Amino acid sequence: LITFDNVTKRFGSTTVLDDLCFSVRPGRHVTLIGPSGSGKTTILRLLMTLETPDSGTIQVNGDRLFPAAERERRQARKKIGMVFQQFNLFPNMSVLRNITEAPVRVLGLSPDEAEARAKELLDLVGLADRTDAKPAQLSGGQQQRVAIARALAMRPQVLLLDEVTSALDPELVAGVLDVLRDIATTTDITMLCVTHEMNFARDISDEVMMFDSGKVIESGPPEKIFAGPEHERTREFLGAVL
Ligand code: ATP
Repeated sequence: LITFDNVTKRFGSTTVLDDLCFSVRPGRHVTLIGPSGSGKTTILRLLMTLETPDSGTIQVNGDRLFPAAERERRQARKKIGMVFQQFNLFPNMSVLRNITEAPVRVLGLSPDEAEARAKELLDLVGLADRTDAKPAQLSGGQQQRVAIARALAMRPQVLLLDEVTSALDPELVAGVLDVLRDIATTTDITMLCVTHEMNFARDISDEVMMFDSGKVIESGPPEKIFAGPEHERTREFLGAVL
């Protein structure tokens, strides 16, 4: 369970998250939508401990991220993996090494174990034949699929996806979405996605949360949010993006 209780985050005089409360149950696939600047990415960055809230409590499956002693925060942080818009692969390492590096260094897996697991994951993302390639030899869509495999190699309970298809050429988007749909249906991982692509939201999620000015103004299953939004701001937003 991910919970945000009364979380406020300011940058200077701008309040980006305003006394925000929400929770995500284990195994759910939740998409955050809303206008630019409404605080969606900040939520993911808080979960990655790349930002610190000004007040409030954030917990992940029973461990506190904020406020928390360093040890508990590390424990909570280990449960979370993230895939970014820009794939951020290590350019000088092979595809395989990109995936085995953290499990060996951080989780203490033996190189053989890490490699066996990496190969399974590369199979899952459809790149079993590219283990020795360098990132630059792959298309953007393939690089993003390696980034997804790399995040999963750390065995997270929660996967954060920040605009993962928006840097891709349109013809490469479907391959990445297929992989994410596979992961959503074949694993019990919790997914929290930020996206501007409403088809992605509709496809992947069982719940959509609409943000505006640092608050959740409406949430529900995608059929409901897209077909019959209740809030005027949601109607305006969807009217502009659909
Ligand atoms: P987008 O859809 O454009 O990515 P978003 O809803 O994800 O928007 P955030 O990226 O969370 O919004 O940003 C919310 C607000 O906080 C924006 O006004 C942004 O300029 C501001 N902001 C984010 N990070 C910082 C920072 N490190 N320093 C100052 N302001 C920041």
